[in-house]
Amino acid sequence: ALAAALAEVTGNGLTRDGHPVNLLANIGGVDDAVAAGATDVEGVGLFRTEFVYLSAQTMPTVEEQAEVYRKVFEQFPGRRVVVRTLDAGADKPLAFANLGDEENPALGRRGLRLCEAKPELLDSQLEALAVAAKETGADVRVMAPMVATADEAAWFAERVYAHGLPKAGVMVEVPAVALRSKHVLAEVDFASIGTNDLAQYTMAADRMEGELSHLLDPWQPAVLDVVAAACDGADHNGKPIGVCGESAGDPYLALVLAGLGVRSLSMAPSKVPAVRLALSKHTIQQCRQLAHLALEARGAHEAREAVRAAANEEL
Ligand code: PEP
Ligand code: MG
Repeated sequence: ALAAALAEVTGNGLTRDGHPVNLLANIGGVDDAVAAGATDVEGVGLFRTEFVYLSAQTMPTVEEQAEVYRKVFEQFPGRRVVVRTLDAGADKPLAFANLGDEENPALGRRGLRLCEAKPELLDSQLEALAVAAKETGADVRVMAPMVATADEAAWFAERVYAHGLPKAGVMVEVPAVALRSKHVLAEVDFASIGTNDLAQYTMAADRMEGELSHLLDPWQPAVLDVVAAACDGADHNGKPIGVCGESAGDPYLALVLAGLGVRSLSMAPSKVPAVRLALSKHTIQQCRQLAHLALEARGAHEAREAVRAAANEEL
């Protein structure tokens, strides 16, 4: 019965009353792009570009990078592709993007911080992206990982526009940015919440530490509070905000996130049908009520159970 129900709902993400929530794919390279491009996702919400460089000992040339980006963008004519610039360091070490050993890599010079130290890495990547974007019909948008301040967001956006790329965004992975999102989002065109790192930094729990998975649970109401703060700031600026962490693929949590105000959900393409079905069975007002239940819960378990019990049916 579930398979039949899943097959029946197709197309773009919509709540029962027609409120759009874009359903996008997380990809890590050309193979993922080919697979996702063949599905009916509305585009890519997170292209983790560091995966392209995992085996490289030196930063590839602009042309070598553009070659990869071209192949990815070609899979999505007329669809959006949100590209995250290099997120090296901590759990994603790269041979050539390294500033030496750090005591606390997750709190160190990773993500955009590393690109601030080595701006040539970011510039060559932006140049390659601009070349590939021009040659394909994809709607390319570029966002930075590990942004913590409005100054960093402005620094990044200026570089993106200088390369002729029209849209710059930030990931919301650091609670500071969520809390200050009104000011940070004034500097850019969009934001995407990375709940994997946002949970890590909100709960002060290393995402690589399996014994702490209960703290890293995106249903932790504190994490949802931080998500809600980010959404409020985005709303204040009229800027679109989405979620691209793993939590976006949980159908019940997807309802909560929609209720908190996110306009897109990016996930492994295999998760899209169940999320699409869940949205189709709830109005945006019901999603807001589910979000309220989750925020009022005393813990992650209670939040999940309250939403499951109140959702329209087994998802
Ligand atoms: C995240 O942190 O939630 C995210 C989407 O990025 P990554 O998992 O690649 O750090
Ligand atoms: Mg992250």
